[in-house]
Amino acid sequence: SSCDQPIFRVLMVGAHGVGKTALVQQFMTSEYMGALDTSFDDDSERTVSVLIDGEETMIDIYDIPPDKDYKRYDNVDAYVIVYSITDRSSFNHGVDILEEIMCDTERHPAIILVANKSDLLRSRQITNDEGRELCVKKDCKYIEVSAVLNHKVDDLLVGIVSQIRLHPHRI
Ligand code: GDP
Repeated sequence: SSCDQPIFRVLMVGAHGVGKTALVQQFMTSEYMGALDTSFDDDSERTVSVLIDGEETMIDIYDIPPDKDYKRYDNVDAYVIVYSITDRSSFNHGVDILEEIMCDTERHPAIILVANKSDLLRSRQITNDEGRELCVKKDCKYIEVSAVLNHKVDDLLVGIVSQIRLHPHRI
């Protein structure tokens, strides 16, 4: 039964205003999104089931409030590090988080770097290549999306779950 299934912890991290909340809202409308556990009143944590290739994966998505440090969350299975392509400081902040997470060699969580706001092309400060090359160097997954246009957000959700399945340290 689903009670025996592990629930994987997914943490949305990144600077304030990069679109973490907007992304989680779009996840909820995805065709891959299954049952939503509404027993939490806390909007920053949701347990959901994601159905991909006939396989169900249970995840807890934590959208961290700006006043909370991501390091306070432990046993994280996947970090979704979000920055805005229009904001160089949010990219630098994302890189700092990426390096901090990778310094912890005890666990090997999935890491996905997300370049958000791809619709704001004219205000772009970080190229697609810059994000991609960083991830080649750091060996993590990279994706450029637009939460507002819901562009590639489904791919991101599938990517998160695939990365979790590739890092089966909890199973
Ligand atoms: P958070 O602080 O990381 O949770 O960021 P929010 O999800 O609250 O988004 C901050 C602001 O950026 C809001 O005004 C959003 O509407 C806007 N935003 C989020 N994602 C996008 C996007 O993909 N494109 C554009 N143009 N704006 C976005």
